Amino acid sequence: TVKGDVHDIGKNIVGVVLQCNNYDVIDLGVMVPCAKILETARQENVDIIGLSGLITPSLEEMAFLAGEMQREGFTIPLLIGGATTSRAHTAVKIETQYTGPVVHVQDASRAVGVASALLSDDGREEYVAGVKAEYDAIRIHRASSGKATRLVSLADARANRMQIDWAATPAPVPNRPGVTVFDSWPLDDLVSRIDWTPFFQTWELAGHYPDILQDAVVGETARSLWADAQAMLGRIVSERWLTARAVVGLFPANAVGDDIALWSTEAARGGERAATIHTIRQQMAKADGRPNMALADFVAPVESGVPDWVGAFAVTTGQGIDARVAAFEAAHDDYNAILLKALADRLAEALAERLHETVRREHWGYAAGEALDNQALIQESYQGIRPAPGYPACPDHTEKRTLFRLLDVPALTGITLTESCAMLPTASVSGWYFWRPEARYFGTGMIGEDQVADLARRKGMAAEEMGRWLAPIRA
Ligand code: SAH
Repeated sequence: TVKGDVHDIGKNIVGVVLQCNNYDVIDLGVMVPCAKILETARQENVDIIGLSGLITPSLEEMAFLAGEMQREGFTIPLLIGGATTSRAHTAVKIETQYTGPVVHVQDASRAVGVASALLSDDGREEYVAGVKAEYDAIRIHRASSGKATRLVSLADARANRMQIDWAATPAPVPNRPGVTVFDSWPLDDLVSRIDWTPFFQTWELAGHYPDILQDAVVGETARSLWADAQAMLGRIVSERWLTARAVVGLFPANAVGDDIALWSTEAARGGERAATIHTIRQQMAKADGRPNMALADFVAPVESGVPDWVGAFAVTTGQGIDARVAAFEAAHDDYNAILLKALADRLAEALAERLHETVRREHWGYAAGEALDNQALIQESYQGIRPAPGYPACPDHTEKRTLFRLLDVPALTGITLTESCAMLPTASVSGWYFWRPEARYFGTGMIGEDQVADLARRKGMAAEEMGRWLAPIRA
């Protein structure tokens, strides 16, 4: 897993699959600097390098590494995998850096097929030529259809912001404003809030829970995995393998342009800010009078004179996991090591859900009478959203630094940020709360250089650095 990134479930599954097929795998772990990868590749005389990453900043690191392979005269194949990677990104941004074979591996199950094709004596050249031709075609297609994503200027996008009648609904004043910390959320309270469908996706079993357990194709495998998961979950809870921590803050807030100003108390409103959220506005040309949205549109602007509120949260269920994972790995039990990580991730999402529910009903209290079952929660049938920095409505990962400072997250929960703004432990979730019924998830889509420059200025970040963080959404 490349520098700055910490996610390794996918990488570990690929490692197991390759080893089961008699490949020798040197697993360098997570947050591995480029120099160490290339040095090891030379020392061990490897046949293939594989890179994994989950968050978008890792895409830039992968392109950088491909360029370094070129510079240092490597010729061996480079495999690319992980959640935010894609065939298109590999073709456009990575393969163009390196003349050796570069192949995007869609999922772990394909790793063996790709590796054996790349190492076969007779089929290798044909396979490599086929992939190159395919990536050429992707680049040509993108170059010719580039004008299809028509952007409007940032000024025009702002003029087409989403309109809310601020006077119609006064903002609910929280019952418990300010910061609240939970040192140890009971694990047994989280089990009923787990969303199981992504758990099966982690293992590349397609289908929705609970139907997947009866699926004609994967049902038997899913049932066996499910039984193992229930058994381990029972031990996680009863033997307290993990500690669940959370911090939540509710703050007076108002939008200032595309920024959101947060103050520590009502008395401080309009004075010195506790933090500023910098939101990104959609710039795609819109039809039918649809707005160019930014998260700032969900908060009453300063000039409306309406006092509004915004929340922030961070949760983790990863405290204590390292020792347990190490014990499984020492016993060469890769399966249970991966199972534990997958369950910790599920518990973290469950805690994010449970905390949000508690905030709506009690801390903020704007939905005191809400009573939804887990299915309704998964379908987001409640009022308000919790967008997470790094996701489509707020793709700038560096906003996590603001959130972490605002809530003192490292000191209060033990979660830290890597240089790429990945959260450690990996079983962590953080985000903002917007209470308004109009608030919904969206994607910023591609943005123009005018907005990149504007964000750099607003955030006080060098233009070039801002550009690198925003690379995945620069048109
Ligand atoms: N039940 C799921 C919840 C995670 S996915 C699970 O257990 O895995 C949903 C979360 O992703 C949301 O709560 C939000 O935090 C984030 N999210 C989804 N779409 C988003 C978007 N467009 N912008 C920002 N955050 C988003």
